[in-house]
Amino acid sequence: MSTCFFRSRFFLFIILSFVVLGCSGSDNRSSYSDDLADREISDSNGSTDYNDSDSTQITGTDQSQDTTAESTDSNSQSEIDTDFVKTVNNCDRGSYSELYKNVPPSTIPPGGLVLENVPQFIAFGFDDNTYDDSMTWITEYLKGVKNPAGTGNECTFDNMDVHVSFFVSTHSGISSAALINSWEAAYSAGHEIGDHTDTHDKDILTAYNTGGDSGISGWQSEITTCNNFLTENANVSPGDIVGFRTPFLAYSPATFTAVKNENFLYDCSIEHYMTGNGFDWPYTLDSGKSSSTYATGEPGSIPGLWEMPVGEFMPEGSWSGVTGFDWNVWCQKKMSKDDAVKLWMDSLKLRMEGNASLYIEPNRAPFFIGVHTDIYSEFNDDANTNCSETWTSRRSALEEFITQALAYNKDVRIVSYNEVVSWMQRPIGLDGTLSPPGE
Ligand SMILES: [Zn+2]
Repeated sequence: MSTCFFRSRFFLFIILSFVVLGCSGSDNRSSYSDDLADREISDSNGSTDYNDSDSTQITGTDQSQDTTAESTDSNSQSEIDTDFVKTVNNCDRGSYSELYKNVPPSTIPPGGLVLENVPQFIAFGFDDNTYDDSMTWITEYLKGVKNPAGTGNECTFDNMDVHVSFFVSTHSGISSAALINSWEAAYSAGHEIGDHTDTHDKDILTAYNTGGDSGISGWQSEITTCNNFLTENANVSPGDIVGFRTPFLAYSPATFTAVKNENFLYDCSIEHYMTGNGFDWPYTLDSGKSSSTYATGEPGSIPGLWEMPVGEFMPEGSWSGVTGFDWNVWCQKKMSKDDAVKLWMDSLKLRMEGNASLYIEPNRAPFFIGVHTDIYSEFNDDANTNCSETWTSRRSALEEFITQALAYNKDVRIVSYNEVVSWMQRPIGLDGTLSPPGE
């Protein structure tokens, strides 16, 4: 009886989702953040938007030469680097051969661990990152912020520093020394640096996406230029750039072929929706993407490549979510600081407590929060004109959410995306239970 009722509610939800999205959601999503970023780039003379960029121009000649050399190196690996797990911290998750490499989409926690023994991960993924003042703000703010003590086990990030991920668009030749230094400072502080292409240019990337197989080389050029810029200028170790997010969440099979060819460990570009069983946990693309996604494009089968679902922020007691990026909160919905913090806390509580009135069970799926340091910059005239609250209030909203989330439940762990992957490769319970190998 209750199952039938649940199913009818679920199908109603699916139908409503498509109606709502068909009318506005997908349009809103595609305009997300990327309007903001587009304007920054197109407005840019190379000075105001990237802060003192005149001081260190990167010459195009050097850049292209280095790109070629690095590209050869990275292509010499024929398979995705599933050995990454050993490098993320001192946790011993067993031998390489015992790691999980083929994990299908699921709303059930991995490794056979019971729900109460699974950390509730929160992972911030900051895109773009073209203003040094807000890069420096979040890096400095997080210094000394630690996860709950747990049992002191590094494998579940107990008492470890809170880390976040920065998916950087490098804009080689334009980015200022101060900005590059801010990326390096974040990396040095233990945060993750990922790839968000070099140009972030909508026209260029759209051409690659509509060009069939001929777009693959264009995507690879964007990706390797970004990677090489980060390794050569921000001193990021090449082996540490393991994650990719596509601008505008726009991708084609060519994008994913390039991501595969460049040996990324994970992608985080596909928007997913919640079902009555909760959001999907991260999974590998061995059999393609989950059925619970808004995206219509098929990444195809990419064995071993992890997909970190872009979710939605879910208001309490509602099936109608907000696309899971801060641009939608501040610049589209124009929410107040208090409402934004509540929306994020509601989304967290939904994962840990479920919602009886909506027939949603808790499943502790990681809470991936899409953000942009640019929206928290003093100098981003676009955001400071067109988005809600002031840049100082928006900063304080994020700080307040982090504080509330860490105090809310002892099982919460704020970690970077690559740390979530390392845990997924061999899940370990909060009580130290090691999941059986080979699942
Ligand atoms: Zn972007």
